[in-house]
Amino acid sequence: MNKHVGALPKQYDAKRIEEYTKSFWAQSDIYHLVKKRKSRCPKFYFLDGPPFPSSDTPHIGTCWNKVLKDSVIRYHRSKGFNVRDQPGYDCHGLPIELAIEQKFGVKTKKDIEQIGLEKFVTECREFAVNNSQSMTRTFQELGVWMDWTAPYMTHDDDYIESDWWSLKEAWKKGLFEHGLRVVHWCPRDETVLSDYEVVLEYKMLRDPSIYVKFQVEGKENEFVLIWTTTPWTLPSNVAVMVNPEAEYVKARSGNEILILAKARVKNIEDKIQSQLEIIETFPGSKLEGLRYRSPLENLVPAQKKLENARRVVLSKEYVTLEEGTGCVHSAPGHGEEDYEVGLRNNLPILMLVNDQGEFVDDAGKYSGKSAREANQEIIEDLKANERLLYSEEIEHRSPVCWRCKTPLIIRATDQWIVRVAHLKDTFIKEVDKTRWVPDWAGASQFKNWLANLKDWVVSRQRFWGTPLPVWTCSICNEVKVIGSKEELQQQSTTTTDLPNLHVPWVDKIKLRCKCGAEMARIPDVMVGWYDSGAASYASLGHPKHPELTKYWWPADFIVEGRDQISGWFFSLLKAGVVLMGISPYKTVLMHGFVLDDKGREMHKSLGNFVTAQEVIQKFGRDIFRYYVLQTTIWEDLKFSWDAIKQYSGDLGTFWNTYVFASTYMNLDKFQPQRWPLKKLTRSLRPEDRWLLSRTHRTIKEVTTAMDDYKIHEALRKLKIFLVEDLSHTYIRYIRRRTWIEKETANKQSAYATLYFALKSALAMLTPILPFLTEAIYQDMFRNAEPKNPETVHLLEWPIYEEKMISDDLEAEMNAARTIASTVAVVRGEKSLKQRQPVRRIIVASDSKITRKALKTYSDLLLEQMNTRSLSGISNEKKSRYEQPGNSEQFAKSSFPDGAVYVDLKLTPEDIAEGLARDVVRRIQQMRKEMDLKVDSYIEANLVVPQNIEKLLKTQQHYLAHEIRAKRLTISAEKKDFPKGFSKTWEINKENYEFTLRELSSTKRKQARKK
Ligand SMILES: [Zn+2]
Ligand SMILES: [Zn+2]
Repeated sequence: MNKHVGALPKQYDAKRIEEYTKSFWAQSDIYHLVKKRKSRCPKFYFLDGPPFPSSDTPHIGTCWNKVLKDSVIRYHRSKGFNVRDQPGYDCHGLPIELAIEQKFGVKTKKDIEQIGLEKFVTECREFAVNNSQSMTRTFQELGVWMDWTAPYMTHDDDYIESDWWSLKEAWKKGLFEHGLRVVHWCPRDETVLSDYEVVLEYKMLRDPSIYVKFQVEGKENEFVLIWTTTPWTLPSNVAVMVNPEAEYVKARSGNEILILAKARVKNIEDKIQSQLEIIETFPGSKLEGLRYRSPLENLVPAQKKLENARRVVLSKEYVTLEEGTGCVHSAPGHGEEDYEVGLRNNLPILMLVNDQGEFVDDAGKYSGKSAREANQEIIEDLKANERLLYSEEIEHRSPVCWRCKTPLIIRATDQWIVRVAHLKDTFIKEVDKTRWVPDWAGASQFKNWLANLKDWVVSRQRFWGTPLPVWTCSICNEVKVIGSKEELQQQSTTTTDLPNLHVPWVDKIKLRCKCGAEMARIPDVMVGWYDSGAASYASLGHPKHPELTKYWWPADFIVEGRDQISGWFFSLLKAGVVLMGISPYKTVLMHGFVLDDKGREMHKSLGNFVTAQEVIQKFGRDIFRYYVLQTTIWEDLKFSWDAIKQYSGDLGTFWNTYVFASTYMNLDKFQPQRWPLKKLTRSLRPEDRWLLSRTHRTIKEVTTAMDDYKIHEALRKLKIFLVEDLSHTYIRYIRRRTWIEKETANKQSAYATLYFALKSALAMLTPILPFLTEAIYQDMFRNAEPKNPETVHLLEWPIYEEKMISDDLEAEMNAARTIASTVAVVRGEKSLKQRQPVRRIIVASDSKITRKALKTYSDLLLEQMNTRSLSGISNEKKSRYEQPGNSEQFAKSSFPDGAVYVDLKLTPEDIAEGLARDVVRRIQQMRKEMDLKVDSYIEANLVVPQNIEKLLKTQQHYLAHEIRAKRLTISAEKKDFPKGFSKTWEINKENYEFTLRELSSTKRKQARKK
């Protein structure tokens, strides 16, 4: 142990400790030192899932995420890996555009163009950069050791070029193409949303639910009855789908005949409150080709122009009989299933809604109106045309835009697509090869998500994103996909200055087509998910640095929240498989969300938003880390200040354990290299061997947990070891051994054992508590051994030896603890102080372990239970201690395996000894109040009650030794005594007056010589 530097507080004080560590790290540039030392080790590629810099304050869940990552990185460094630790930021995207729109008070995309795209995009970039810098500061405060000097930013040109390269590769493979796709669309933001964005947010919306009559062509009073909740799609109707295998009927209602599924007749009767008379029953297949007239044909010019439409088509898979009428209104421009059936049946695609969600000119009467707002007018028109059978309202869960909360609409648009749907089997194979923690994240959640795998719509109709590197010729329709900035500049017709690769600058570049005309870039940018999905190779600068890709790729480890099943885990996999053929990651850890104490999401608007900074200010950095890391990783963390307060007690206990140990080791000038455990094997006591067993077992269990990425389990094992085994047990057990002044093998064995346990635990705590462990290490361990490294973060991960782990010793220690605590119960019941020695204790038990424990730990138990003798008997023989007559002598208490009997008879000698211990405890307290060093000597004068004087004098020798008194007087009368520190005490309702005086240092030296 090295001498206390003295800079650190005796009590745990997070602020002082963490400031100390921070300045130590900064002064000696410890982070780079550690990285440099590990640079020749085997590689471990950690890939950071880039947070979105949409705010300057990271969500507390993002901080948990970063701390988890840091603990994994630190663990692997201490295990001897060269860890790639580049952080990243996902800089592009709609939320940032919306923030800038708000800043300028802008409502539509057109307004943005008026502000000027250069200005708008520059603002977006600054916003992303400023926020990411601010978030970085918080992560650094939490002790997250990543390479903050060079994060990957998805808006950097290098990164964009990697995106371009990948699209060109996909293009060459025939996997990048454009075409009509039916997509979810936000009319407010005028852009497509991905499936995984659509599932992010739903709202309960009230919508009409109407039953509409489509007149059969040539039959005045015969109608196909359809049902819809989106009247605004009726102008785009081109067909009705029926199930070929279901039974349909013609049914009379008044003087009209309705065609619908037989199974839905009852439903209609209930709605219209009248009986239908079934006049014909037939299979749905018989309806194929039946032509009908649009109920809005006179109002919507587009309907008039339609050819090869307005007929019944068949669909077994998409027509169910659970709702509606069994006759499904089909608008391929507004429904994915409709689109698919439409293609199969050569139906035209009618799309009457523009980017803003408004009807176009061809929608006639409704043109210029927003789609959902036209619902009511369409219903009125149907009523007027006598085509509305029944109308009501329903409330249903509908997707809304996760950014602006506008209800989404579905429409067919021309989009750019990376084809992946055909790769489903490969994806599933790759998922099976990946290690998922917990395993159900991959085996069930991710695979479920993949079941609906569709092609990847990568285009977005926005500005702040990676521009799609596609140039087209409007004359001959030639398409060019560009793979790098260099290639672009080579092919450019002009030498336009290109400050960066974003819109609008990139759009100034024109290419020459082979037909001689000029090619212009398409206006779309790339979905942000493609940016982050490319991170496994784009962050390495691929393909410009093949040596880096060759060394690092694929990533060994990623960890993100459970929402990333459909997000980043998915995007990474798609980008990896399309470009590299295999999954870009080997191990995935999935964590939960941070919610408030009531289980609600934290939002600034709800007033329940807590930041990491607040926790740091109130409690400290280590406690934040400790608190989040103790949470079962894949479960949600319900944030609670009370819980934090409680957990901070653990840190105090860890601190005290180290301070206590080092205090005594320093006093005794314990030098670990002079007393290696190997030399002490013969003098180890059973409790030493027990602690060594516990240490090796803890190393084994913590290592396994860390290797399995179950950091919370590692933390819990370490807590038990430090609190239960070290603080509550071992340190108490060895207290008396450390009071011996001589350098005995017995004492050195205790120290050597303790040193090994403390150092092992410290090394294992570094990934969790990097600040506290560094302070302890610098203060107590750094100079204790010549080979100890400069920082705790260069301590190697401890290695366990299986042969040191003893199930027996540990089981017996548990039994011994049970016996000791049962005796403590008896003492409590009989008001027998712990300091009062008893004559004997008998333990009755048939348990082999309990009986063995009495032998193995007999010395320890005698001392801890303060008894002169201890014996074990079988349950059979216990009756002699329970027989009437004897009952006054023995007090009994039971434990699961048996019972203890404590002899209550006390001799005057016993009482004197108990009293002496009472006196010792009070004098030790006075020594503390005098702030004496643990090894300093005193003179003491004890004035005691008359009747006690003689009794206590029998303990003179014991007393003097325990209180380190070179001179000790005990008397009933107050005698002349040099002035000192005096205090009056009440013991057993009688008064005692003690006076202490510290011996001068010269006297102390003389005393030592003696
Ligand atoms: Zn929106
Ligand atoms: Zn051309």
